[in-house]
Amino acid sequence: MTSWFYCPYCGQKLFKVNDTARGVAYKCKRCKREVLLNVSAEGLLDWFFCPICGQKLCKIAPNAKGVYLKCKKCRNEVEVKAPVEKTA
Ligand SMILES: [Zn+2]
Ligand SMILES: [Zn+2]
Repeated sequence: MTSWFYCPYCGQKLFKVNDTARGVAYKCKRCKREVLLNVSAEGLLDWFFCPICGQKLCKIAPNAKGVYLKCKKCRNEVEVKAPVEKTA
């Protein structure tokens, strides 16, 4: 089940989340402030790109998951999640 997540500063509708949502930093289009969703280690953030068209969408922590973002370029709704790390 997903619900909408709104910007805590200006109220802009940002993206959909489920109950495991974490690890995403998204810059609000309206107020231009960076909204952090359950991000603990800010220094570890990396860019997340649309898996369909390659558009840069938001920043993610290594444990990111549970966030659904509509790509502004290809208009598909994609799940934002960290790439699975290979364990040696
Ligand atoms: Zn905002
Ligand atoms: Zn896209």
